[in-house]
Amino acid sequence: MASAPVRNPLAGFVLAILAATGLSAVVGFASTLIPYLEFRLFFLGLALFGAGAFAGRKTCLGILGFMAAYLGAFVGLYLIELLFWTNPWMELLALGLALASALGGLVTGKLGVRQLERAAQFGPGVRRCSSCGARVGTSAHKCWSCKATLTY
Ligand SMILES: [Zn+2]
Repeated sequence: MASAPVRNPLAGFVLAILAATGLSAVVGFASTLIPYLEFRLFFLGLALFGAGAFAGRKTCLGILGFMAAYLGAFVGLYLIELLFWTNPWMELLALGLALASALGGLVTGKLGVRQLERAAQFGPGVRRCSSCGARVGTSAHKCWSCKATLTY
């Protein structure tokens, strides 16, 4: 993440929606091969959490990851239900299961923010005092800690 170029958050959001849609469609289709409804729902819940977690990595904000994973999973699942698995609770199922994906997106979206913060802390914009090792600003002339003159 640290080396990745800064992306437009909106582009990341759209990418995350597309990823969530694609993954939940694959997961939804795979679930139609599972014979028992209980197993199917259990599998869908777990797999969608994973799909959302993957999709959420494309965004750098938890709430964006949440929304993108929710939207994407809902669309992907509903499509699969329409095509391969017509049942009387299609909307309800898609809405409920999309929530599992959304939680996954929320978790990794938050992680992304933490990574960005860490990258900002230890990124190339920070240098250290040569005599005491304290972190000093890029434009500082004197170390705030040991008062040594910073020559580089
Ligand atoms: Zn110093």
